[in-house]
Amino acid sequence: MGFDDLGLHPSITDTLQTLKYSEPTEVQQQVIPHVLAGSDVLAGAQTGTGKTAAFVLPIVHRLLQQQEAAKLSALILVPTRELALQVYKSVQAYSKGTTIRSAIAYGGVSIGAQVDEFKKGVDILVATPGRLIDHLFKGTLDASQINTLVFDEADRMLDMGFMDEIKMILKRLPKHRQTLLFSATLDDAIFKLSKTLLNSPQVIEVHERNSVATPVEQIVYNIDTDRKREFISYLIGSKNWQQVLVFTRTKQGADALAKEMKKDGLAAESIHGDKSQGARERALEEFKQGKVRVLVATDVAARGLDIRQLKYVVNYELPYIAEDYIHRIGRTGRAGEDGLAISLLGQEEAYLLEEIEAILDTRLNQQWFPGFEPDFTKAPVVEKKNSKAAQKRRAKQRAFGQTTGNKRRRSK
Ligand code: AMP
Repeated sequence: MGFDDLGLHPSITDTLQTLKYSEPTEVQQQVIPHVLAGSDVLAGAQTGTGKTAAFVLPIVHRLLQQQEAAKLSALILVPTRELALQVYKSVQAYSKGTTIRSAIAYGGVSIGAQVDEFKKGVDILVATPGRLIDHLFKGTLDASQINTLVFDEADRMLDMGFMDEIKMILKRLPKHRQTLLFSATLDDAIFKLSKTLLNSPQVIEVHERNSVATPVEQIVYNIDTDRKREFISYLIGSKNWQQVLVFTRTKQGADALAKEMKKDGLAAESIHGDKSQGARERALEEFKQGKVRVLVATDVAARGLDIRQLKYVVNYELPYIAEDYIHRIGRTGRAGEDGLAISLLGQEEAYLLEEIEAILDTRLNQQWFPGFEPDFTKAPVVEKKNSKAAQKRRAKQRAFGQTTGNKRRRSK
């Protein structure tokens, strides 16, 4: 199937040709016809599948057919600033050469500049919930004409506790509208949310539930926790990897690791929620340009990161929330490019790997790297029962219903 077969406006197919998109991805083939037909859609699709174009292209098509003066008719809600920027860039790319106007609204930056943009007229707005509410309450945005509402990465919105904000926003939008809900994982929480948001939706799942986008190769190295840093620098250096995204669990961990890697002679930077928007964008841009070789990130900061041809993702520490593993490794292997996801497994993290394997429904091969074999005579670093880390982990797992993770998920 080609883009021509989807009946999209010629201006869009021309743009896609320039972007060298030769054919629609699976999620695009399945979702676009339903959106064009006006149906609500619930789509299970991870990043890297081409999901953004699956909702942006039909929105652009509809606007091109209407050819009315700019009025806010499509709202795309996303959980993080990074994803907002990413989606906004896609909207701009897909509507290039048309008169369609798009804008972006996220927190952490001046609200005035956003208001000035709105005054010029907006057709499509990409927004994070908090800042959108600010605009709705201040009356700096007219939401009365919105006829298409998109939730992107809805699972992450729920994870981040945006339910109250979502309810507030819905109260201010027209009841009669088309709603599209995209989520990397389709689980009970998402189905419950979809019941309140969607009207007889078409349900589309492009991959098996909770499977990772192929063809990412996954390797798990058993390693002593106190040798992880030395090992990762050695691996990157000796294999001459150029663009490596490394995940840590904490902001402090990300900063410390980037600092240590710099000492090892690697151009490394960290991104996380405590850094200013400007610093995050700068680090990301330098990473994309190849000036920064290793980007160390926390899960939230890396959400929405889209780097075409990113080959290497390293889990320096396994995530407490097993689904985050899927999000992390979804940063590589995007749109059919191959990728490699390496996980460094300390002895004390074995239970986290089990939870990941349970949701992937597969076992991941564990191996030793010559010269970095784990020393099993060493006692594993055990988390102190009531340490801050243990309390934080338990709270997080409770929030995600993972306290009995393995059993609950396996019995599904
Ligand atoms: P997404 O899953 O929306 O984050 O998209 C992942 C990447 O795939 C982005 O870099 C897109 O530019 C790219 N992409 C989306 N659709 C296609 C397509 N049909 N052909 C080639 N690349 C695509």
